[in-house]
Amino acid sequence: MSDTVRDVVRDVIVIGSGPSGYTAALYTARANLKPLVFEGSVTAGGALMNTTEVENFPGFRDGIMGPALMDEMRAQAERFGAELVADDVVEVDLTGDVKVVKTADGTFHARAVILAMGSGYRKLGLPREEELSGRGVSWCATCDGFFFRDQHIAVVGGGDSAIEEATFLTRFGSKVSLIVRRDELRASKIMQERAFADPKLEIIWNSVVEEINGADRLESLTLKDTVTGETSNLPATGLFIAIGHDPRSELLPGQVDLDENGYVIASHPSTGTNLPGVFAAGDLVDHHYRQAITAAGTGCAAALDAERYLAELD
Ligand code: FAD
Repeated sequence: MSDTVRDVVRDVIVIGSGPSGYTAALYTARANLKPLVFEGSVTAGGALMNTTEVENFPGFRDGIMGPALMDEMRAQAERFGAELVADDVVEVDLTGDVKVVKTADGTFHARAVILAMGSGYRKLGLPREEELSGRGVSWCATCDGFFFRDQHIAVVGGGDSAIEEATFLTRFGSKVSLIVRRDELRASKIMQERAFADPKLEIIWNSVVEEINGADRLESLTLKDTVTGETSNLPATGLFIAIGHDPRSELLPGQVDLDENGYVIASHPSTGTNLPGVFAAGDLVDHHYRQAITAAGTGCAAALDAERYLAELD
């Protein structure tokens, strides 16, 4: 990118390249706002780059592989003139009328910024975890539960979302084993009662996953008893990790208002934040639905909000 391009005050900069970022890029590009999109250096394309089949994104009756879907979104945004840069934003100053966005390589300016950095699922940190992601290991029951019909499914976690995932998965699995580190659940009373009452759900107390086993797909888990130290084999072919997620909002504290968990607070139904000209979309805001289609939907809304904001300035 030339220095002249760098020095221009753009209409819009989009930070992030998942379904929300690319959709915001597509809409702002089609509105002739020539967005500059920072995609991130390692995971351009977002969370779906780490999965295999996506069966619930409308428009693909036979499903589509996650990376292929993101490649289509990327190419569609580029076709209408979005400028895509596979680089990380390392610093922002979003408080003024002209927003400042920095990468290791340069400083960029825009009148509006769309934040679409997503969130990351917490991982167990085990050796085969990444490799078997989309091959038995998952972080999203709504997305992948359907693939595990009549199979033995394990869920790790003891909070509300773990119980929610586990009880949802009993619709599909022959059996669901909830692996809980301690001898009690962190989940709310009502969720606990739901778990205890579910005949297909067994709770394995005082246990952690020590190893994820399988050649091409998950075949079993090695569990370790946190009290006795003994290990055992659980022949599960599905593993859902539900130990939380963290929004990628580390650039924003002190500027953009965040909730107690670090998610951007947007003024629903708009995508506006506390700062004029700064909009936020996708899983960076939404810890409730967390789907590709909802991220794309709010990316569209953020683009329309930015477009209207700029029109009012002109
Ligand atoms: P993300 O997709 O997380 O994208 C955010 C992007 O921003 C990333 O590329 C990141 O690199 C970039 N970024 C972050 N910080 C910076 C920075 N400082 N500078 C530049 N770039 C930055 N949903 C479904 O609907 N169906 C499914 O089948 C499905 N399967 C899934 C499988 C897996 C394994 C996972 C992890 C998720 C799955 N989901 C699925 C959920 C879905 O992927 C997310 O809801 C969706 O991707 C969120 O989109 P997003 O645009 O908000 O963020």
